[in-house]
Formats: sequence, C-alpha cells, structure tokens
Amino acid sequence: MKRLFFALWPDPETRTRCTAVAAALKQAGRPVRPDNLHITLVFLGSVDEATETKLVEAAAAIRFAKISIRFDALHYWRRPRIICLSGKPEDSAVALLVEQLNTIAAAQEITTDDRPYQAHVTLIRKASQLPPLTLEPFLWQADAFCLVESCSTPEGVAYRVLKTWQAYEDQTPIDSEAD
Ligand code: ATP
Ligand code: MG
Repeated sequence: MKRLFFALWPDPETRTRCTAVAAALKQAGRPVRPDNLHITLVFLGSVDEATETKLVEAAAAIRFAKISIRFDALHYWRRPRIICLSGKPEDSAVALLVEQLNTIAAAQEITTDDRPYQAHVTLIRKASQLPPLTLEPFLWQADAFCLVESCSTPEGVAYRVLKTWQAYEDQTPIDSEAD
C-alpha cells in the first residue's frame, strides 16, 4: 500500500519564497524541507495498486483551469501544531478541481476530508505558537496538479511526485501535428 495525496507542487520561484518564509520562522519549530513544500488538494491515505491505477485513469480525464491562489496570511493551527500559509483562491478553479478529485476518490470508496477546502502550505511542524512576522503577499500559480506518495524515511517524511496532469489551457490540441 502507498500513502497518497493529490497536491499542487510549487514552481522554483514559489518554492524559494515559501522556503524564505519558513526560514524566517525556524525558531518556532521544525521547518518543512524545501523539497516537501506543497499544497494538499485531497488526501487519500493508504491505497493499493489496483485502486491507484483507477485513480490515475480517472485523474487523467479531469479538465481543470490554471489555478491561482493568493497567500497573504500566516496561521498557527493548534491541533496539528503547524504554522502554515493560508491562501485565498483568485477564482473557482481550485474548488472545482478539489470537487472532481473528491468525486474520483469517492468512486473508489475512499473517504476524504469533508471540511470546507482551505488551501494552505505547511511551513513549520512541531510549533507551539506563531511568532510575529510580516508577510509579503504572493500568488501561487499552478498549471498542473499531481499525485504524490508520502514516504517515510529515516530522515523524516519525503514526498515523491508520481504523476502530473496539465490544465487544459496548456494542452496542445490533439490535431496540431496532423497532416
Ligand atoms: P507525518 O504525518 O509523518 O508527520 P505529513 O503530515 O507531512 O508527515 P502525511 O501525513 O503523509 O505527511 O500527509 C501528506 C499531506 O496530506 C500533508 O500535507 C498533510 O497535511 C495532508 N494530510 C494528512 N492527513 C490528512 C487528512 N486526514 N486530511 C487532510 N489532509 C491530510
Ligand atoms: Mg500527517
């Protein structure tokens, strides 16, 4: 079984920005490794190979628009003891994608988080409070989403991108090279 989730992966510039904010907060707990920074779309949990294959097939059929989320606030979430960036979507693209991902998970009888979707980037784990820090707002733009495996390693959790799907605006027309 693999521990899987759907996520948005940062482009290099976005990763650098998030890493800088996490570094500024490093006294507050344990910063997330830059390689692990992401936005969870839908957490799936333990999935067997046959189910993974069906999820991949279903995900490939999803049409979604480019995503743009404005991150302008830091929060401390007490229960998971994390500090995260919380974002506001610029339009309905991410909500529509999350809804479709929940639907394909439900079709495989996977129970997903039923709380309202809140886009966030976990920056610090094992935190006990949010230190004062002024955040310069920024946009996280994504033209793809991915299926990610959460692997536990001796050095801590590591996320591995298994598959990536592009937003429809970026898809080359199928007949572009015909004739
Ligand atoms: P660890 O659990 O080992 O401390 P982690 O939380 O980073 O590490 P996972 O638990 O595999 O790693 O989670 C992967 C991603 O899915 C993280 O972004 C996590 O916040 C999110 N996630 C995990 N469990 C749930 C859940 N039940 N509902 C929604 N999101 C979840
Ligand atoms: Mg976890």
